[in-house]
Amino acid sequence: MIYLDNAATTKMKDSVIEAMLPYFSETFGNASSTYTSAGQAARKALTEARGKVASAIGAEEKEIFFTSGGSEADNWAIKGVALKNKDKGNHIITTTVEHHAVLHTCEFLEKQGFKVTYVPVDEFGMVNPKDIENAITDETILVSVMFANNEIGTINPIKEIGAICREKGVCFHTDAVQAAGAVPIDVKEMNIDLLSLSAHKFHGPKGVGALYIRRGVKLENLLHGGAQELGRRATTENVAGIVGMAQALAEAVDGMAEKTKKLVKLRDRIIDGILETVPYTRLNGHRTERLPNNTSFCFRYIEGESLLLSLDMMGYVVSSGSACTSGSLDPSHVLLGIGLPHEIAHGSLRASLSEFTTEEEIDSFINAVGPIVQRLRDMSPLYEGVEGKE
Ligand SMILES: *Cc1c(COP(=O)(O)O)cnc(C)c1O
Repeated sequence: MIYLDNAATTKMKDSVIEAMLPYFSETFGNASSTYTSAGQAARKALTEARGKVASAIGAEEKEIFFTSGGSEADNWAIKGVALKNKDKGNHIITTTVEHHAVLHTCEFLEKQGFKVTYVPVDEFGMVNPKDIENAITDETILVSVMFANNEIGTINPIKEIGAICREKGVCFHTDAVQAAGAVPIDVKEMNIDLLSLSAHKFHGPKGVGALYIRRGVKLENLLHGGAQELGRRATTENVAGIVGMAQALAEAVDGMAEKTKKLVKLRDRIIDGILETVPYTRLNGHRTERLPNNTSFCFRYIEGESLLLSLDMMGYVVSSGSACTSGSLDPSHVLLGIGLPHEIAHGSLRASLSEFTTEEEIDSFINAVGPIVQRLRDMSPLYEGVEGKE
């Protein structure tokens, strides 16, 4: 199997599994039972993990709150700020190309009476900070703009958007689930108030994430019960998962510049290889302002879904559109958001790499795509009518 779907989830590293194992067996204590030595051992691991995650993004230990994943962190940030500040205003600003964990949360809040502005992006999927600035009113209580897009990999000018929000006194949340461990993040320098993370996107375990909450930022709790996570999120701590997340993130940011150089080379090898060998194909997203591991294409006259299935049968694991929307016939909201017509958006394919991806795998993939696309086009009535084929 050649796995090129790392934007959907990643394989856990052996070192991460090893770091977690003791917390399933000998050190199984309840991290909140600090009156026992078993609890203290778990608590110690938790505190260390919090410190590790904090230092990976330039935060302080007490600003990291562990969650069940990226979706919960997004939900908590947006609903938490909205509920806490509904006396101050009812307006939220986000973009048209966010992950559904953000978009569906905003739609839920609209039903509760909040107003949401969905700022459009340019043809590369990038948000213009000026558009955010212009959308801010006296009623605005939150801006939520993703750090990097999960489908097309475009990286947003987060620092500029953060500076605008800070100046206007509006809380700024960013979904950094795809960016964390892939590009440098410094929450202080970038004026970020709230930031979402998910461990399984950087070779950590599934079902664990974190929300960075800048000291002083006010938001309601989402989960009520015990006083875990400094009294802000109930439920007995997932110590093993949290330890795994911290280990994975620390390893991801360690030597990032070197790994990025290698990944960008492989990424561009796919992009150039596909665009050169397959006619009627476009690259989605920005050529350079994109995640080092993301490639996304649209192949005209075919369905991305058919291409994905053919590739899967040959052992290449990729994605068409986003995993969350497959199963529905609607094209991806991200591809529509960058202005693609439905018939082109339907032919999308994402191949996303990891530090385990090799040049041999890339070349094998490039060589596989062309003939499959041609076979599918030969069966397509749309392609039949194309004049003067390349
Ligand atoms: C994967 C992803 C999420 C959801 O994270 P989970 O931990 O799977 O809930 C949210 N936002 C983005 C951008 C993602 O890629």
